[in-house]
Amino acid sequence: MKALSRYYVWWPNLDEDIELFIKKCTRCQQNRPCNPELPVFSWSIPEEVWERIHIDFAGPFEGSYWRTRKTKTC
Ligand SMILES: [Zn+2]
Repeated sequence: MKALSRYYVWWPNLDEDIELFIKKCTRCQQNRPCNPELPVFSWSIPEEVWERIHIDFAGPFEGSYWRTRKTKTC
């Protein structure tokens, strides 16, 4: 879209103005393409109890990272 616009018109900061306009446009945001789905990842099956521990962190929120979940495998 920016290249097409530059074909017809130009002004300083044209690209940034187009990006800002599209970010503010409700219809453009509703119809933008979705992010591609990531492939499903499967962990290998552990052979012993407590062989692997999963901990997820969220943040930063209020200046810190927070543990959100702790899952024992097996
Ligand atoms: Zn739009």
